[in-house]
Amino acid sequence: MVFDTVQGMPKVLIVEDDPTIRTAVVRALGEQGYAVAAAHTAMTGLQLAVTERPDLVILDLGLPDLDGREVLRMIRAVSKVPIIVATARGTEAEIVRSLNAGADDYVVKPYGAAQLDARIRAVLRRTGTSEPADGVIEVGGLRIEPRARQASLDGTPLELTPREFELLRYLAVRAGEVVTKRELLVEVWRLPYSGGDKTVDVHLSWLRRKLGETAQRPRYLHTVRRVGVRLAPPSAAPADDAPAGDAPEAEDRP
Ligand code: CA
Repeated sequence: MVFDTVQGMPKVLIVEDDPTIRTAVVRALGEQGYAVAAAHTAMTGLQLAVTERPDLVILDLGLPDLDGREVLRMIRAVSKVPIIVATARGTEAEIVRSLNAGADDYVVKPYGAAQLDARIRAVLRRTGTSEPADGVIEVGGLRIEPRARQASLDGTPLELTPREFELLRYLAVRAGEVVTKRELLVEVWRLPYSGGDKTVDVHLSWLRRKLGETAQRPRYLHTVRRVGVRLAPPSAAPADDAPAGDAPEAEDRP
């Protein structure tokens, strides 16, 4: 299984022979907005780690064809990609050996989707911030660091899902421009436009909430009725935005 690559979304490769865990992780990470590839053997995993250039690898230490730590060393020999090892053997010695062999973090089975997401984000933040902080986007009090995949508003970090981050980044790069929902579906979701804007509306609504604003009282995200949305700093907000009560956007989670 190869990445359904979306620009700007973290690519995660999971190497796991247990089909139940693999399927669950692929689904959970996909829903959280990651691009996911999966391998069920060490050899396939090694191959994908090289050819697909993932941003992060989740590596099961108990694989049928090769010892997990051996796989870890082999990936490390050719790539600096961050690796989170998944182990059923949650002993301290086992974890220490993995970290010494080049793992960036670990999860102990059984692990939940929320924990995995948090660990992935922490590892990406850690490894991302060691790179030059270029490409930083600032719009008013909004600051977006694409490499670190961090965003903050007036100095306070925003807890965004990968999809929300990408949506915010996409709009911020085009600050001041009206972006259509169709463009967002195609460019951020990579979905063909089907006339249904519900997905975009719902995510815009969640993003608004995290930015501490509403469609009726916008600060950064301005609905342009029947066209799309524009991100602009509060002071530059034009007065002709969609009036209250008529914004075609969902304001609550379904
Ligand atoms: Ca296993």
